[in-house]
Amino acid sequence: MKNSLNQNFNQKKQETLNWDLLKEDFKTKFGKDIYESWLKKMDLIEVNSDNLLISVPTRFIRDWITSRYLDSVIEVIKSHNKSISRIEFKINSSPVNSSYKDDQFNGSTEVNDLNTNVKFIKDSFIQYNRIDPNKNFENFVVGPSNSLAFEASKKIIDNISNYNPLYLYSGVGMGKTHLLNAIGLKLKLDKKVMFISAERFMYHFVKSIKSNEMIKFKDYFRNTDVLLIDDIQFMNGKEALQEEFFHTFSTLIDKGSQIVLTADRPPNKLSRIQERIKSRFSGGLVVDIQSPDLNLRSEILKNKLLELKTFNGSDVLISEEIQNFICSEIKSSIRELVGALNRIVSFSRIYNRAPSLSESRIILKDLLNMHENNVTIDNIQTAVCKSFKISKNEMLSSRRSRYLVRPRQTAIYLAKMLTSKSLPEIGRNFSNRDHTTVIHSVKTIERLRKEDNELNLKIDSLKNKILYNKENEI
Ligand code: ADP
Ligand code: MG
Repeated sequence: MKNSLNQNFNQKKQETLNWDLLKEDFKTKFGKDIYESWLKKMDLIEVNSDNLLISVPTRFIRDWITSRYLDSVIEVIKSHNKSISRIEFKINSSPVNSSYKDDQFNGSTEVNDLNTNVKFIKDSFIQYNRIDPNKNFENFVVGPSNSLAFEASKKIIDNISNYNPLYLYSGVGMGKTHLLNAIGLKLKLDKKVMFISAERFMYHFVKSIKSNEMIKFKDYFRNTDVLLIDDIQFMNGKEALQEEFFHTFSTLIDKGSQIVLTADRPPNKLSRIQERIKSRFSGGLVVDIQSPDLNLRSEILKNKLLELKTFNGSDVLISEEIQNFICSEIKSSIRELVGALNRIVSFSRIYNRAPSLSESRIILKDLLNMHENNVTIDNIQTAVCKSFKISKNEMLSSRRSRYLVRPRQTAIYLAKMLTSKSLPEIGRNFSNRDHTTVIHSVKTIERLRKEDNELNLKIDSLKNKILYNKENEI
């Protein structure tokens, strides 16, 4: 239900304005740093006759964008839709969860196909073969979480076709695209390299089929020595499309071309992809990148500051305290970490002084709330069991002793409050309890919170522990 609503909603948005293309233009016009730090946070809610309704996560970001980039943002939008002359912002502090983002993506792919101008696309697979020279092996900082991926990528350079394909996976912002770029940069010195996102790859596939240019397309890809495909989870084409892809893929492997793929999950977890394709993906080397530890985060931050210093010829005004604050608070991804640093740097450039700790909190507010997204039912169960001193087996058992019922209800209540999981999903995570049990637990705890102050305080403290992870800080 929610999915189909989202899809309709997205279709509606896309009819009048292609937000994905607009975002690409923002990136080109403002540069990656500004885009990643600020503009990427904008989400299109509604297209009206002469204005757009756009959501941003915090007031600060809205003010920052309006005071510095608004005119140019409108200029870019006007180049897509002349009648738009105004933007209205809505502050939307609730984080968008990632499964929703997935749906949004999948829902919009086909709509894009129908809407985009064919001429523009015709030769664009060449145009999109952009390798970013700033993402190389030299400035990739290695730590325990990414060293396997790093070593495997380096091996590709030394000994082409040893692992084929190499499949790198991790959550967002962990350095997959960086490594893919680094491989491309090195190999393109003496090989034909094709670097493309899976989304674009599929897009051109569909286009070439529709415009009878399949042969040209196949030749183009089959001529490459090295095919680097980013974000393969977005490959979700129809049967015929997958068929073609499988053949192109197999031909390349058979003739000894190197393929490197990245994704946000391991091959067997890819949805809507044929089994035999998944098994070909697993046929080489599959390596994951894990969350960076505090040490790696701090190394990366130091490196970035050095890069900025070299680039600008002067020191960047950021105190040790703020650096520590950034690396201890922004844990979920390296992209967020770099984005946070860029924001602080743009602040200190504009005001010619480093922000204080409390200013930094405001500047980074939306990123600091990020771990709310990471709360899982499992985290909640662990925290609640610990606090009530019962075991997880007891919590998940069917026993109805009073000393087990309360913690169980509390965990169910917190799962409802702190995650976006549906009632049946929550029930499933508590040994397949029915959704009516979930509702009953939530209501009971809501009532008890009013009546029982001790329990109320206990739940507040649990909530803080779960959301801000104060106890398990790395
Ligand atoms: P992913 O593709 O996994 O989503 P990216 O490769 O785009 O992540 O990385 C996000 C940002 O973090 C990029 O700016 C990238 O250069 C930087 N980054 C990631 N890992 C490292 C690392 N180990 N050392 C230096 N920079 C990194
Ligand atoms: Mg990437």
